[in-house]
Amino acid sequence: MIHADLHVHTTFSSDSTVLPKMLVQQLVTNSFVKVAAVTDHDTTRGYGSTRQLASAYPDILIIPGVEISTQQGDIIVLGTEEMPLQPWTVENVVDFARERDCVSIVAHPFREYGMGNLAKNYQVDAIEVLNGGSSPAANKSAQELAKLMGLPGVGGSDAHQPAEFCTAYTDIKASMNVDEILKAIKRGLVSVPSLGKSIRF
Ligand SMILES: [Zn+2]
Repeated sequence: MIHADLHVHTTFSSDSTVLPKMLVQQLVTNSFVKVAAVTDHDTTRGYGSTRQLASAYPDILIIPGVEISTQQGDIIVLGTEEMPLQPWTVENVVDFARERDCVSIVAHPFREYGMGNLAKNYQVDAIEVLNGGSSPAANKSAQELAKLMGLPGVGGSDAHQPAEFCTAYTDIKASMNVDEILKAIKRGLVSVPSLGKSIRF
């Protein structure tokens, strides 16, 4: 079992103050969460520098990813160092993820830039049911959406500042290996510790 913050922004997102070295330092000092996904807005460039810095520490792992802004709402792709081709429609992003064995996740569906119930129209792999920046009510609606769609629910802090890192995370039945983690998410081998209670999907 690993614990992973699956939604973190570095300074490669214009609205984040988390330098890649700060993210690495957070993972090094955190004794519980040793895995994080870099999910910058519309760029995968944050991953390269973060991974390079992280390579000095064998007990931490960085998952490549991106949070893509579509007209319908934000969608996270985990496992890619490349960007999908434009236009970034939800269909294109979901197809891109599937073709590359990546994981597509509807980010904070019931918050600003979330796709809400439109998510039901797309073949995504998972729903972000716990977002560190969303209200409890918005997270609860996201949990209900995941149950309704029969999809795994994942959690991430959506950190834009170092102090926000790890305010939400996902328990994953996998070892410290990106491919294994991606497969485990798709197979639903995840749970989200929330409000003192572990929610299983
Ligand atoms: Zn985000």
